[in-house]
Amino acid sequence: MEKNKKIVIANWKMQLSPAEASLQAKNFKKLYNKAGLEKKVEVAIAPDFLSYLEVAKVFAGSNIFLAAQNGYSETKGAFTGEISLATLKETGCTYVLIGHSERRQFFAETDESINNKISFALQQDLIPVLCIGETFADRKDGRKDVVVMQQVQNALRGIDIKPSQTLIIAYEPVWAIGSGQAMQPAELKHTAMIIRQSLIDVLEDKDLPLVKIIYGGSVNSENISSFTDLDIISGALIGGASLEAEKFIDLIKQI
Ligand code: PEP
Repeated sequence: MEKNKKIVIANWKMQLSPAEASLQAKNFKKLYNKAGLEKKVEVAIAPDFLSYLEVAKVFAGSNIFLAAQNGYSETKGAFTGEISLATLKETGCTYVLIGHSERRQFFAETDESINNKISFALQQDLIPVLCIGETFADRKDGRKDVVVMQQVQNALRGIDIKPSQTLIIAYEPVWAIGSGQAMQPAELKHTAMIIRQSLIDVLEDKDLPLVKIIYGGSVNSENISSFTDLDIISGALIGGASLEAEKFIDLIKQI
């Protein structure tokens, strides 16, 4: 992945049926190619797992990347309901979201499981997209910076990452996700600097990999450039505004 290229990752969550996902993927591919945006912005799309192989077929041979919303940190075994990160790699996946706040909140993802997943994803040469962010209550308690620092450090402690590998950190304040209320750019800049320092601290004396910090939380075509114009922000993770191909392309054009 290129150092200075911005990246936009679409998280389709559990919002589209396989037929809808396939249609949106086909529409998006046409519009993305026509707009000639690939030199400026890399795009990855994370469909749900039932739509995943169909969307993979649509994007095969194109310059649109496939991402997964989750994955498990073992190659094979008795892990009912899980999908291995190794299998994802085999089926053309490039990026994997790890520790999204909805997984932490509704599916009891812990710092330990997140750390295992990051480690295993890197072993498979997948690009982990570590999702972090404080809740509204953390913020009201004045704990935002501490929570973010701890999430970075717990996710990455002891991780073996090569300088040639890439790590993406998606900073997504939980209160901003799906709420229509995005973080102010000045505060984002401050928080991104804390994230970067926490990362340098936890990776200690290792040679740093390519790290990109992206923002997520109520990003739309009106506000995206206020985040991506910040030098420290390399792109965005988009939920709601990525579900319709035409609207999603309009958003990417604003970068
Ligand atoms: C998300 O859930 O990762 C997200 C950023 O959602 P939204 O864009 O809808 O706030």
